[in-house]
Amino acid sequence: MNDQAVIRFAPSPNGELHLGHAYSGLLAYRTAQDMGARFLLRIEDIDVGRCRPEFEAQILDDLSWLGLVWEEPVRRQSEHFDTYRDALARLDEMGLLYPCFASRSEIADAANKKGQPWPMDPDGSPLYPGLYRDLKPVQAQKFKADGKPFAMRIHMARALEHAREKAGGEITYGAFKPGTPGIERMPVDPMRWGDAVIARKDVPASYHLAVVVDDALQKISHVVRGLDLLAPTDIHRLLQVLLDLPEPRYHHHRLIVDETGRKLSKRLHDKSLRALRENGASPDEIAALVGLTD
Ligand code: GLU
Repeated sequence: MNDQAVIRFAPSPNGELHLGHAYSGLLAYRTAQDMGARFLLRIEDIDVGRCRPEFEAQILDDLSWLGLVWEEPVRRQSEHFDTYRDALARLDEMGLLYPCFASRSEIADAANKKGQPWPMDPDGSPLYPGLYRDLKPVQAQKFKADGKPFAMRIHMARALEHAREKAGGEITYGAFKPGTPGIERMPVDPMRWGDAVIARKDVPASYHLAVVVDDALQKISHVVRGLDLLAPTDIHRLLQVLLDLPEPRYHHHRLIVDETGRKLSKRLHDKSLRALRENGASPDEIAALVGLTD
């Protein structure tokens, strides 16, 4: 066993798992086994409005049925908001965050007014047009006193400059391929995200903050996840540099698509693992369906 190597699978219990998750979980698990690494499961449930205990229970059941074995206890992000609040406070003390009181529609309207075509971020949302970036602290205090909800955004240009200074040059990430030694250094481009949300309006974290804090706390050495999470690696590496967190290596795997080439999605109600199980599929058949044969 290689105690230094730690790999995790980190699903969100906001719906049922589909074949894409089966592939990701199996690949992470098999990579851990091949490397003699420890294997952890993390439940990413900071979206308290959409995550539900029954989805979590189904995830644990589906994954053990698939043959995954993980260390206990499972880390559940919703139980660690204080930890994320501390990391948030550190970024704030560096002068890199600001409160943003904008609603989604306010952002879309402001982006439209700036003229077409307004750039999109890698998630397909209009790039944040800078509303509230220069809000006077006294005005921000007033909005807060009035109970106006706010997210915390990172001043990306300033944060990137700070991170480059700390790193002594451009920020990169190390890409690895399961089964092969060595890493390839790859560039990141955090500016394409604009002033990203680091803490949502309802909780003191965003996916980006929670994921980097937890990867560090859980000593994750290798991240295996889908290509849909390649672009967020820009923000993850930036936050790791700013917060002095260790740098895992990353492998972003191919995505499982349907017959029309569309990526599977919970939102679009792609066939769940539960439904496939109920129709009599075996774990080996699931592995074969996603192209993982022994
Ligand atoms: N929780 C994320 C998801 O379900 C994965 C996070 C990660 O692997 O970094 O898409």
